[in-house]
Amino acid sequence: MIMEEARKQIVEYGKRMSASGLSIGTSGNISVYDPETGYMAISPSGLGYFDTEPEDIVVMTLGGEIVDGNRKPSSEHGLHTIVYKNRPEARAVVHTHAPYATTLAGLHTTLKPVHYAMMGANVYEVPLVPYVTFGTPELADAVGIVLKDNPRARAVLLANHGDVCFHINLAKAFGLAENVEFTARIQWQCMCAGTPVNLTEAEFADALERSKTYGQQPAK
Ligand code: 13P
Ligand code: ZN
Repeated sequence: MIMEEARKQIVEYGKRMSASGLSIGTSGNISVYDPETGYMAISPSGLGYFDTEPEDIVVMTLGGEIVDGNRKPSSEHGLHTIVYKNRPEARAVVHTHAPYATTLAGLHTTLKPVHYAMMGANVYEVPLVPYVTFGTPELADAVGIVLKDNPRARAVLLANHGDVCFHINLAKAFGLAENVEFTARIQWQCMCAGTPVNLTEAEFADALERSKTYGQQPAK
């Protein structure tokens, strides 16, 4: 099976995305990109994450041509493609309708550093893509414009829709989606209780620097 490992990973992370409440029902989608072949493996459209098997994952080119798989690919395949075209380092994209990130997106506000957990997004403020109908080339284009305007960003909010997170592998892209949702929740709770106090740009830069040595480091 072409891209077997990537397909298995997409199935596994789809279940995690569903179980963690980051996506309700069949909302959201996940892809993995292989630069050697130029192929993208992407979740099928409208299929429950616990009903999805590796053979249901669709393999496509970034030109939109299906290479393998009998299912209809995610309606957001163009959005995933635009990320890979704009970010050569991206190897995985996670799109969710996570409730708190979507709350901010419904307010047409950006995600701010009220907690350092969103630093994986690599920007002080996670930008907002203006509202465009889901699953359209126009939404993909709107995401592309915001990615060009924010060349460091690894996450964007989609107005009245959700978020898009990407990274150098699927584990990191998914972890970023979790941390974007956590920070969005804290921001919203702070907005409800008073006025959020965000980290300063210097404090945010310090946290980003410190993150380079956080956790288990490769053996020397
Ligand atoms: P798909 O089921 O087609 O991937 O669509 C879900 C979604 O979130 C659309 O924006
Ligand atoms: Zn969506």
